Amino acid sequence: MDVDDTPAEAAFRAEVRAFLAEHAPDVTPLVGVWPPRVIDHERDARFIDASRAWQRCRAEHGFAGIGWPEAYGGRGLGPVFEAIFAEEEGMAMLLSGLFSVGIGMVGPTIIAHGTHEQKTAFLAPLLRGEQVWCQLFSEPNAGSDLAGLETRAERDGDEWVIHGQKVWTSHAHAADWGILLARSNPDVPKHRGITCFLVDMRAPGIEVRPLRQATGSAEFNEVFLDGLRLSDDDRLGPVDDGWRVAMTTLTSERVSIGGNTAVLSLDDLVALADRRGLRDDAPTRQALVGFHTRVQLITYLAWRLRSAVSAGREPGPESSVLKLAMSRHQEATGDLIMGLLGADATLDHADAYGGGSWQGHFLYQWASRLGGGTDQVQRTVIGERVLGLPGEPRTDKGLTFRQLQRAALDR
Ligand SMILES: Cc1cc2nc3c(=O)[nH]c(=O)nc-3n(C[C@H](O)[C@H](O)[C@H](O)COP(=O)(O)OP(=O)(O)OC[C@H]3O[C@@H](n4cnc5c(N)ncnc54)[C@H](O)[C@@H]3O)c2cc1C
Repeated sequence: MDVDDTPAEAAFRAEVRAFLAEHAPDVTPLVGVWPPRVIDHERDARFIDASRAWQRCRAEHGFAGIGWPEAYGGRGLGPVFEAIFAEEEGMAMLLSGLFSVGIGMVGPTIIAHGTHEQKTAFLAPLLRGEQVWCQLFSEPNAGSDLAGLETRAERDGDEWVIHGQKVWTSHAHAADWGILLARSNPDVPKHRGITCFLVDMRAPGIEVRPLRQATGSAEFNEVFLDGLRLSDDDRLGPVDDGWRVAMTTLTSERVSIGGNTAVLSLDDLVALADRRGLRDDAPTRQALVGFHTRVQLITYLAWRLRSAVSAGREPGPESSVLKLAMSRHQEATGDLIMGLLGADATLDHADAYGGGSWQGHFLYQWASRLGGGTDQVQRTVIGERVLGLPGEPRTDKGLTFRQLQRAALDR
């Protein structure tokens, strides 16, 4: 693995810096606004408008869809160049985040599996920031075991009728479109009876209910699908082959996760230590060095993953190692912040130092330990695929989804 920029990467980095110096928006008034810490439609709208404007600006200057093929309006440059933009983007990444599902995950899935009409309808508007997307995968009984999803898709002539419930749907309340997985055939093993659809989030039969989290934020939602009617043209990929489609989405998510340590710098934490007069305190210094070391390790792990992807390899167990390292880092950093804040850590909102954003860092660690594959699931992958430990018992092998449901009812 070579961590230095190649000449092409260095040239791109210079181009990105020049673009950002001229166009990067001032996000100061928006910091702390997103994820929304209160349900406030006016503030949400302000944030969404700013995000759309930034995405449009990126597109106009050739910095949208950096890794997408040129045929679809991207730069065709691959994940290393995406990472360079992310590294340089600084706090404007808050605004790009609204499009991480759409551009980072749904776009590559439509490119790989979509019809000509779907590519025409969605890809260019996505890059221009005209569509916010959400991912309608997880359900109350299907998270780590995503293939166990129960939302039903029933064929009715040229249409599909959808019934079910999704949960933890990030930004569904702001989304124009969603990528949906639903069970189209319960009489085959669970991975083989799922179909993927593209859903207009404002269609009748969809109800979005925000979920308030421990952080006070409400960027997650429950989504109820009650008799939602979809045309067969809304189907992405073949009937009953949605698992393969979803793998493209999840692989894209895995490549984009990680390396996102730029949110907090060592300088931020040193300033926090200074505020408490702890700059010369030995345990604090030790903890700050630990922070810095972890950031470096994660950066190198992320580069290793991206090098593998650039060389045309699927992200393998290294993405699990990176994901686990990231969540351990969030945990340790959250604890460090709480220690540095002292009694201030009990305060929130306007009473708190930083408006409660420091406390938010601590509380948000559980999100990174669950989202994109939980710590325990990552450990299983590492155990089986890196360490060669015996596999987990798989009691569902060879059974159809309907048999699994019956077995669950009998328990
Ligand atoms: C920040 C964030 C954003 C998210 N955004 C979205 C989104 O936009 N769209 C979407 O569809 N979903 C989203 N999710 C949901 C996410 O995909 C799920 O939280 C994740 O897949 C875990 O599923 P679960 O929450 O149902 O937990 P479960 O799978 O029920 O797990 C509960 C606990 O059991 C453990 N566990 C489960 N199975 C095993 C096993 N086989 N071995 C050992 N331990 C196990 C888990 O590690 C965990 O500790 C998001 C989650 C987070 C935190």
